[in-house]
Amino acid sequence: MKLIQCWIEHPIRKLDQTFAYLSDVQAEQGARVEVPFGHGRAVGFVESCIDTDETAEQLKARLGFSVKKIIRVLDESSLITPELHDLALWMKEQTLSTAISCFQAMLPGKVKPISSKQKILFEKFVRLSEKTAELTPKELEAYLYVKQAGEISYHDLRQKYPGQAHALVVKNAIDVFEKEKAAQDHPVCCRSLPFALSAQQKHAMEEIEGSDDPVYLLHGATGSGKTEIYLQLAEKALKKGKQVLILVPEIALTPQMIDRVAARFGTALAIYHSGLNAQQKYEQYRRVMNGKAEVVVGTRSAVFLPFHDLGLIVMDEEHDTSYKQENQPSYHCRDVAIWRGKFHHCKVILGSATPSLDTYARALKHVYHLIVMKDRINQSLPEVTIVSMKDSIRHGDSYILSQQLKQKIHERLIRNEQVILLLNRRGYNTQLRCRRCGEVITCPHCDLAMSYHREEGRIKCHACGYEMIRPKICPKCGSSEGFLTLGFGTERLEQEVHACFEGVRTLRMDADTTSRKDSHEKILASFGRHEADILLGTQMIAKGLDYPNVTLVGVINGDDGLKHTDFRSCETTFDLLMQAGGRSGRGEQNGEVVYQVFDPDHYAVQCAAHQDYVSFFQNEMLFRRAGQYPPYTYLIALTVIASDQKYADHLALKIKNEISGNFKVIGVISLLKIQDRVRSRILLKGKNLEEMRNAVQYFIDHTDTDLKGLRIDVNPLTLD
Ligand code: ADP
Ligand code: ZN
Ligand code: ZN
Repeated sequence: MKLIQCWIEHPIRKLDQTFAYLSDVQAEQGARVEVPFGHGRAVGFVESCIDTDETAEQLKARLGFSVKKIIRVLDESSLITPELHDLALWMKEQTLSTAISCFQAMLPGKVKPISSKQKILFEKFVRLSEKTAELTPKELEAYLYVKQAGEISYHDLRQKYPGQAHALVVKNAIDVFEKEKAAQDHPVCCRSLPFALSAQQKHAMEEIEGSDDPVYLLHGATGSGKTEIYLQLAEKALKKGKQVLILVPEIALTPQMIDRVAARFGTALAIYHSGLNAQQKYEQYRRVMNGKAEVVVGTRSAVFLPFHDLGLIVMDEEHDTSYKQENQPSYHCRDVAIWRGKFHHCKVILGSATPSLDTYARALKHVYHLIVMKDRINQSLPEVTIVSMKDSIRHGDSYILSQQLKQKIHERLIRNEQVILLLNRRGYNTQLRCRRCGEVITCPHCDLAMSYHREEGRIKCHACGYEMIRPKICPKCGSSEGFLTLGFGTERLEQEVHACFEGVRTLRMDADTTSRKDSHEKILASFGRHEADILLGTQMIAKGLDYPNVTLVGVINGDDGLKHTDFRSCETTFDLLMQAGGRSGRGEQNGEVVYQVFDPDHYAVQCAAHQDYVSFFQNEMLFRRAGQYPPYTYLIALTVIASDQKYADHLALKIKNEISGNFKVIGVISLLKIQDRVRSRILLKGKNLEEMRNAVQYFIDHTDTDLKGLRIDVNPLTLD
């Protein structure tokens, strides 16, 4: 008999421990097993499986409970490599989550324990049979085609020989068999060769290659040639027979990155992101596991792929908040990447023009090796103009497009150059306020104002997605006097642009225009073909785009983000302004940028205008120190999410009273209601993260309170 210890799939924190079972057959660590649990069945992950001579009775006497037999082993070979197993348990400690949630976060949907019933897809393949058959000349041609290929998918054969494929099967000339469906290779357009490096790039390469440090921060201006460095380092790793992981924030928004990697490395590339369906993810997972994929470009979850021999990890735009998972386990991709880099003894390159404050602070302390690339490859940095919208409105200008920005757009249109306009809000108006009672229409499920979307004639909640037809009467007082409209979004901006420039061709990119699959790619490709003069949209157009014909970028309401009370709001505003600036003047002509803001003297605006990251860093660090915020301190947010306010407050207060140590416990704070869920939070703030974590873990292990609805976020990125 074997004695198996396994983690059971169950969301309750109290069950975060292994359970013992007996089995007749061996099961690998990390394989899934189906076991009796409570009154039903559950799926578990094997932690260990050892031979035992003890009988069930002896075990019962020794352990104090009767050990049941597993129902069956689901995976013959484990889907989790020993490395990933260790990583999951490390993540559990780091993020204070359950082990099972960490295993789940790692695996593609099809093989998560919960979806064990989902089928892996198989595909029909054919190869020559042993038998001989009489064939027509055309059938013989098809037969020889199969012979030459060795084995090919039946689907492909039918496409090529629609009239003969079936006949060959009927005549027993070919055998049909099933194979697990494998991922298609990424189509390669044209191969590109490495550039000869600029002096600055060469220096950066030499620094990286000449050092034994494990983690590097490549702080390079947009267009300084960071991507080329990634590609050349990747090439060297591949030559040594190793695998390469390139992490990007969002695939749809960085199509050019994929094209460049594909053009350099061809079919050895795998792409992994949340837009793939479960089957596609599974296929890519397999490709990485069996070594068919040598280079992976992927988003956050790609950091868990089962690489066997990594030679390089790149994390592009390392400051991007999409690298942090909001759900449990709320891990940061950067931490996982660094852990894996250590495991594989490979270098980790964090790249950004605007590194996160935490990363830059670590680089200054030599925890990461700092490498700076100040200059753009081709051109000078764009010239920035700050327009004070207060002045503009005082002079009677439009509150949407200032006179200066309009003038500059006009010049581009005449010269047949392209323009990007960024406004980080979608919809037509951001609020509707009753003319009678003055109430703003809010979402019935959230404590937030609903935006008006004129094209659809609807109002929408941007937090939960709830929407309805724009009401004619006020839901609060019943008045039919109508509504005042406040604030504006991309839809309104687009209308304004058309009103100002007759015949201008625009493309709009925001969550409303990109809900369909591939719509991002279509819009971006269309803009690339110059089918529009102006691309306008939300922050999704601020990232990695590289269009040589764009010579002007306008940021509308550029300092809107400063209104948020979150301690990182200056940082995100600065990032947005800098990234937007990086889209301008990437070709032959020099670029220009206009920031339309209400607070032109704010250091986030001023430093962005001078493309001066270091000054921003110094200013922002003063602010963080004064408020004792990260990176001067560490935070752990404990949030109770519930449908009932009383329950949430009560549990939060209880937690607060039971956790103590050499750190501050702040709260209970009630946050805005989202999707009918109220949220009560306490915040731990202190200098010693280890101690804070231990205190929380100790509390979880020893409390007799049911912790239903508790969400833990170690190092939260926002406190909204
Ligand atoms: P970043 O990733 O820092 O934004 P890129 O790697 O995209 O910068 O480089 C900016 C532009 O310069 C790209 O169009 C790229 O093809 C080009 N480029 C990069 N390195 C070189 C080089 N050594 N010689 C010539 N062109 C280069
Ligand atoms: Zn009213
Ligand atoms: Zn809502």
